[in-house]
Amino acid sequence: MAVAPLLSTLSFFLKNTNLFIFIWYEVISGEYSMKIIGKIVETEVPRFKHRWFGVLEVAYKKQRYRLYMSGTIAQWFIEGETVEVRTLNKGKKDKKTSTTILDFDDYELYRLWKGERIKVWPVFAKELTHPRPDPLTGKILYEYKIKAREAVFESDFEAIASLEQYHYASKEEIVAIWRCEKCGKFIEANTRPTCPKCKSSKDVHILEIRGSTPASRFLVLELLERKPYEPKIVSYVRVDPPVPSMHRRIEENGKISVERNIREKVFEEDWFHPVFWPEKIAKEKMAKLRKEFGNRIAIRKIWEDVKWEALKQCETAVSRIARVVVHPDYRADGLGSLSAKIAVEWIAERAVPEMKKRKHMVEVIAQMARAHPFFEKIGFKYVWDTAGGRPVLYYPITERAREKLEFFLKNDKHASKHGGVLFRSRYGKVDVLKGPIEIVNMTKKYESELDLEKLPMELKELLRAFGVESRIIEQAVFRDANIKIEPGEIVVVVGASGAGKTTLARLIIGAEKENEKMLKEKLGLEVFERLYKPDSGKIKLPENAKIAALIPGEIEPTFDNLTLLEKIYSITGDQYMAVEVLNKCGLADAILYRAKFSELSTGQKERAKLAVILAEKPNLLVIDEFAAHLDVLTARRVARKINEICRQAGITLIAITHRPEVIDALSPDKILYVGYGTLIEQQH
Ligand SMILES: [Zn+2]
Repeated sequence: MAVAPLLSTLSFFLKNTNLFIFIWYEVISGEYSMKIIGKIVETEVPRFKHRWFGVLEVAYKKQRYRLYMSGTIAQWFIEGETVEVRTLNKGKKDKKTSTTILDFDDYELYRLWKGERIKVWPVFAKELTHPRPDPLTGKILYEYKIKAREAVFESDFEAIASLEQYHYASKEEIVAIWRCEKCGKFIEANTRPTCPKCKSSKDVHILEIRGSTPASRFLVLELLERKPYEPKIVSYVRVDPPVPSMHRRIEENGKISVERNIREKVFEEDWFHPVFWPEKIAKEKMAKLRKEFGNRIAIRKIWEDVKWEALKQCETAVSRIARVVVHPDYRADGLGSLSAKIAVEWIAERAVPEMKKRKHMVEVIAQMARAHPFFEKIGFKYVWDTAGGRPVLYYPITERAREKLEFFLKNDKHASKHGGVLFRSRYGKVDVLKGPIEIVNMTKKYESELDLEKLPMELKELLRAFGVESRIIEQAVFRDANIKIEPGEIVVVVGASGAGKTTLARLIIGAEKENEKMLKEKLGLEVFERLYKPDSGKIKLPENAKIAALIPGEIEPTFDNLTLLEKIYSITGDQYMAVEVLNKCGLADAILYRAKFSELSTGQKERAKLAVILAEKPNLLVIDEFAAHLDVLTARRVARKINEICRQAGITLIAITHRPEVIDALSPDKILYVGYGTLIEQQH
């Protein structure tokens, strides 16, 4: 191996000469490794496994090489085109037919297309960590270890179908079509179903994911380190060719007009054409076939043909991110932006989906972009709305695209008004507390009466036997406590259960005038004073205090029979702000917007409650038993997010929790220790 360093130096000068590569492979891997410049003689994509299996047959001199790969890739190759194959392993050779089978791990493949050399196989893959910092200090609270790679296995497409369920606006929608290989039956289901005829799921395979096109390719993000209860794949991105045509909607002085084919005017015509447009090909073919065979037979005859023809014709310099779907438990943690960012790298490196021209830009058309800046965060620029009113964003990959985009945003009459910016936070800052919250010489005793009358007879007699008749239990919760909480601080309250944490929350809530009035009416004066008023001393709140509180079983938002979006909208009165609040809380999806509270998972319920109280734009948030019902990892994600929201909006947070991972992720300015009569403050 001593020659290796020398060879790698040489490679700088000899990178593209066949001779050098030949020697290099001989030296490193022995006889199996060689480079072949061959011609595609056959493309096979079995109809019923077309996503995850395909074969390219390459002819080189008298030899044939059958390359096994995914169908989503094989289908793009055209008979007669030239490719470069480098064998990594010997493969399986059939001497009679001079055919070598190269399996998934046995080769590298490059497409040689009009002077470009585009790597095709092995597929794009990248390992990375996604650190989640404390928004205040930048300290890393936790991180994800992730592998981003193109979907090639059947299990990848099953995982994609499973995630897709969370994307669809209608929950009745079945997102995938499956087929039983044994009996040929087609079944609609969201996860691998049992064949109703064969009574087994053994031979059932995924056939298609609804909404995708034959031209779609998929990137998945896989968790490399995960707990047994975590999903393997947490997000996916679907990449398609750009939409066939696009017009822009212009609104001016209350009048709406449409400017046709806007992209071709701003950029270059051949960046968008010829595009994957089976409908257009179908129309032309249909006209011919209809004359010959009649309508019904014509339809059946053309679809397969049309698909292949459309794939062959498609050759654009723009790709479109058609979907970014993140597992609902992992929302609002930067994984959507990260997925889109890696997809852009994938597009730039491999010219996906069609692997022909180098890509100049990435296109996104998404209503969601109005309420969620995750495309803009990674460098996408808003350009216009489609004729149908959906916003369009572009990411420039090349310098040429960047120049054209910037020129347009600066000089176009309409675009110069927004300058490429679409998302504008409607939530913004709250009316920050005007002064500190002060607890001054506060004492609170808590009395409870042990009342024997209400007990069952047996217990009553048992207690009487111990000499217990009726007794007042008195406990000092706070004795002359003095604490100050500054505006915008995050404060965590800890202490043993029963030590008085909830009492502290109640006393702060009861100190606000509006609450006092409301609680007195609801509970009566006696109960109010017993639970919500200190015995002596004071809790001083700044005059502009606007409290939102969450005490499980006591103060909780009601959802009635409203969907989440309706509920939040009823508070904000602004639909974009309603969506923004839901997104902030990790409920960023149409299916969740339309869900009712009772339909949510435990983690989503916790997020929904937070969304309701945030929608009120409080400047003081009091939460008891923060994230108590969530598993460790979900609790940590929700806590980090709430930390970020409070810091950004200027909300003062008082959160009661006993969980170390939650305290860590909240990153409090101070911790209050509550324990039998004492209230102690510690700077964190
Ligand atoms: Zn069957």
